[in-house]
Amino acid sequence: MTNQDLLKITEKFGSPVYVYDSEKIISQYKRLTNAFSGVKNLRIHYAVKALSNISILSLFQNLGAGLDTVSVQEVKLGLQAGVDPSKIIYTPNGVSLEEIEMVAKLGVQINIDNLSILEQFGTKHPEVPVCIRINPHVMAGGNTNISVGHIDSKFGISIHQIPHVLRIVENTGMNINGIHMHTGSDILDIEVFLYASEILFNTALQFKDLEFLDFGSGFKVPYKEGDIETNIEELGEKLTAKFQSFCKQYGRELTLAFEPGKFLVSEAGKFLVKVNVIKQTTSTVFAQVDSGFNHLIRPMFYGSRHEIHNISNPQGKERFYSVVGYICETDTFASNRRIAEIKEGDILAFNNAGAYCYSMASNFNSRYRPPEIMWHNGEAHLIRKREDFEDLIRGQVKMDLSTITE
Ligand SMILES: *Cc1c(COP(=O)(O)O)cnc(C)c1O
Repeated sequence: MTNQDLLKITEKFGSPVYVYDSEKIISQYKRLTNAFSGVKNLRIHYAVKALSNISILSLFQNLGAGLDTVSVQEVKLGLQAGVDPSKIIYTPNGVSLEEIEMVAKLGVQINIDNLSILEQFGTKHPEVPVCIRINPHVMAGGNTNISVGHIDSKFGISIHQIPHVLRIVENTGMNINGIHMHTGSDILDIEVFLYASEILFNTALQFKDLEFLDFGSGFKVPYKEGDIETNIEELGEKLTAKFQSFCKQYGRELTLAFEPGKFLVSEAGKFLVKVNVIKQTTSTVFAQVDSGFNHLIRPMFYGSRHEIHNISNPQGKERFYSVVGYICETDTFASNRRIAEIKEGDILAFNNAGAYCYSMASNFNSRYRPPEIMWHNGEAHLIRKREDFEDLIRGQVKMDLSTITE
């Protein structure tokens, strides 16, 4: 996808607009599967919440991937995209027993992360195999320190509660077929990941009928030059060896599963916006674009840094800008960023706009959500239309309040 391709997309589909490069998604997927090619039964479940457009799900379905889902709605999207329910795992947090039962009925693998629901579900449906999500209490500390994850995380069943899990299993007659962990979004350090995996292996040895181990995600991708990226190839080599020796010890070939979101789609996405106003104040030059945190909230929500390029003037002399949005709320995308000289009307491209960008967009300020484009085989395909006033008003009910008088 060249700058010219992107500019043509804004001419045809307007701005703001999200663009996803299918080739990049495919190459990330292949990188991951290649890194674990030594594992006989590997399953990659794409984490739908990162970017849930049905064409993206269909792309993963065609690649042979499964899906990681966190709501019954995501499950339904996956089924609609054509993914087999047996290749979907459902890893919710704090949802109702009713929703879990609904998803189990669809034939999807259930992953339970608290003792209360485990006991209730196991009592009512002992015949449905269930995976459990554990909290290994491991997270990356500074540098290469391994520290205990804060004990109060709302995710997972503490490894210190495994004896309680075993009692529930025994009392209900239910079957635990998988052990899962997902320790968070930013695993920088392979040693930390391997340390957590040892805890997962040790936990797994206490369950006799496992079919798979799910190592979640946490793969890091670069957002700016010089960022550390998870070395997937090194992780693949080291974890494969550990997994193989675990399977020997366990006495059975299990499936090794991962569920990356960001790693697979982040870098494939660009967000294109148009500069409405250049506003010079006494201390700052603002470039105000036709968007805001209603379309891309990561910089404001997480403090994420997205690289921004002026694709209308890529060779221009660099100057300092604060890139801000057009909504009535502080919506700073970037402060004091060096960007090639910007004129009103120029198109700026945000990098790493594939993961947690569109999927977190809203209608704040009653703005429409932007369209989504898939760049595939050298062509732009519309995979979601820009919203319009009909979309905005849908479902709203204008009450008869005529009895109220001035
Ligand atoms: C969000 C999530 C993922 C994906 O995380 P990334 O950082 O996008 O790779 C995987 N598993 C679970 C359970 C999640 O909630």
